[in-house]
Amino acid sequence: MTAPRVLRVAVPSPLFRSFDYLPPEGVGIEQVRPGARVKIPFGRQKKIGVVIETRSESDVPLEKLRPALELLDSEPLVTEELLYLARWATDYYRAAPGTVFETLFPVRLRKGDAPDAATLDEWRLTATGRESDPEELQRAPRQMRLLARLQRLGGTARAEELEEDGAGWRQGMKGLVDRGLVEKGQVTPVLPPLEKVTGPEPGPEQAEAIRRISADIDSFSAWLLDGVTGSGKTEVYLQVIRQVLDAGRQALVLVPEIGLTAQLVQRFRERLGVELVASHSGMNDTERLAAWDAMRTGKARVLIGTRSAVWVPMAEPGMIIVDEEHDASFKQQEGFRYSARDIAVVRAQRNSVPIVLGSATPSLESLANAKQKRYGHLVLPSRAGSAKPPEIRLVDIRGRRLTGGLSDQLLQAIRKHLDADGQVLLFLNRRGYAPRLVCDACGWMAQCRRCDAQMTLHQKKNRLQCHHCGAEAGVPQACPECSHEPLDMLGRGTERLDETLHELFPGEKILRVDRDSTQRKGALDARLDEIRAGEHRLLVGTQMLAKGHDFPKLTLVGVLNADHGLFGLDFRSVEKLGQLLLQVAGRAGRADRPGEVLVQTHHPDHPLLNQLVRDGYTQFADAALAERKGAMLPPYAGLALLRAEAANAGAARQFLSEARELAASHPNGRSGSVMLLGPAPAPMERRAGRYRAQLLLQSSNRRGLQRLLADWVPQLGQVPTARAVRWSIDVDPVDLF
Ligand code: ADP
Ligand code: ZN
Ligand code: ZN
Repeated sequence: MTAPRVLRVAVPSPLFRSFDYLPPEGVGIEQVRPGARVKIPFGRQKKIGVVIETRSESDVPLEKLRPALELLDSEPLVTEELLYLARWATDYYRAAPGTVFETLFPVRLRKGDAPDAATLDEWRLTATGRESDPEELQRAPRQMRLLARLQRLGGTARAEELEEDGAGWRQGMKGLVDRGLVEKGQVTPVLPPLEKVTGPEPGPEQAEAIRRISADIDSFSAWLLDGVTGSGKTEVYLQVIRQVLDAGRQALVLVPEIGLTAQLVQRFRERLGVELVASHSGMNDTERLAAWDAMRTGKARVLIGTRSAVWVPMAEPGMIIVDEEHDASFKQQEGFRYSARDIAVVRAQRNSVPIVLGSATPSLESLANAKQKRYGHLVLPSRAGSAKPPEIRLVDIRGRRLTGGLSDQLLQAIRKHLDADGQVLLFLNRRGYAPRLVCDACGWMAQCRRCDAQMTLHQKKNRLQCHHCGAEAGVPQACPECSHEPLDMLGRGTERLDETLHELFPGEKILRVDRDSTQRKGALDARLDEIRAGEHRLLVGTQMLAKGHDFPKLTLVGVLNADHGLFGLDFRSVEKLGQLLLQVAGRAGRADRPGEVLVQTHHPDHPLLNQLVRDGYTQFADAALAERKGAMLPPYAGLALLRAEAANAGAARQFLSEARELAASHPNGRSGSVMLLGPAPAPMERRAGRYRAQLLLQSSNRRGLQRLLADWVPQLGQVPTARAVRWSIDVDPVDLF
């Protein structure tokens, strides 16, 4: 073998290939390590790419290769382990290498910053500032407000805490600095250790789980921690992480998008007493880079983060936890469509460390893995302490008179629980006021112009909004077709339910929590604190309130309509409904208060729904798994979905037909080992003005499917109509639309 001469570089671009370069002028190839960034010429642009490997040969004649412009890192930014993982994921998900490497790095690194470039500004009161009375600054109201704020915050504040004050706070702060009341400093976002608090004594099942997981922390092992809400899963995480930390290693904790709350971070800090960082979409680029670097260098020992945290380098990897592992937010739904949960398992394997997947409602995939003994199955059957599981009942609403969407039975239950000083949550997975605005004279409906969907009426904003493409429109007073008025508002969303409750329960403290009511940064955490403190007795919420929050005063949960999920758009609908219902139900009744859950439905006889309510999630999941096996669906088969969209309806289907022919000519397509289903229009064919269609590939032979994909996907760009459409491949899709 000849010595390496060529750099293979992943360049940010949607192309399904990497590119070869020579080392920069004056830089020896031995100085360029895989995992380092290089600045490169790319067409007429300059881009920053990542060296994946150094090679002796290129497919391009050597004299045609261009040299890279600059080597940005003398040490690789990521470890060999992450490079391996990225390469594995590129192959498995048939992704463009550039998009994978974009996911691997925080934004500021993609732009070329140094990894340790992230420091955050912090403002601190000086001794004079502490003593000063804000009222004395009456003539500078902005400074007065900021001074008062800093005093309330205990003397220090970071930019993010001051943003809420609105634009112009920087100028105000400068005024305070000039007066000598405030000084500016720099901090890292690593949260310093808190004084350690001891947790509860583990119960027998918890102790067993802790014992088995930590029996061997030096090798790979995978565990499904299957325990109802409140059974003490988080306690188990904390105790096994403790052992990992004591052995001098780091832990990575992945949580769903909405699950990462200030409360959870606080609990981990108090219990573990080590430097900790968080990483989620609410943080700015600097904060995210700092968290990344703190784990890479080992300054932080624990990272709690959402999906992309699975790619954060660790100096001394020791364990991975995936909480609420069934949650759909672990799958990225655009660009590089990876599953962070599945990548986490591969990563744990590669690092020879344990991984714990926890859930009250495990995914059917993980349950199947546990049944096949690929994962150890740890069950926490009951709630911790003395808490009793909630009682779930179906309420038949066929032909019943409803008041504002509420049956008499549910209304009575609400009254009963409020009288007993309980807290009540009404769950409705639909925001806005009314999902339909119609004319009852001529049948006109407020339809989105760009989607096959109706516009939702938002009363407070007085706007019509499409929840699929975000389009907005004014609310017509009269029918645009026949001038009839008023128009009818049909169906109900959280905004309308909120209004109904105010009418039915005057004087009661009511809180609505959905995407519309929690847009401001920190708003959700603030609302959750209020709920825990019991400030509101009646809660209206979407699935934002269903996940992982602990509400000690909640005793009744009412689900307004369970039916949406029963006949949903794809084969996962029922599984998702079951998970959602139990997650919502899990909010009710903790500690010493038994909970009650009422689920309104038009289908009280639906077999799986009944099984869920009667026998619980385990039996429900067994039945659902049997159905999947019969239908040759995941986890008993592999799926890949080729989606295409175009401005004209024919183009997308034409492309997919050609793609299908190509797949059918592959040995694994010809033999029928991979089934080709479609092309078919997407369940919502037109969205944001584009027509969408899809081709499904299904096979009980995952390797055969992978082999076909490996040969087929790189050819798709050459299909004649490929240029007329936007297409993407989704391996292990969670949604079939
Ligand atoms: P999960 O993560 O399964 O929802 P948590 O670990 O958050 O459950 O526990 C739920 C509640 O029960 C928490 O308030 C926790 O402090 C408490 N808890 C957990 N384990 C025990 C135990 N062994 N004894 C007493 N209380 C416990
Ligand atoms: Zn009309
Ligand atoms: Zn729309």
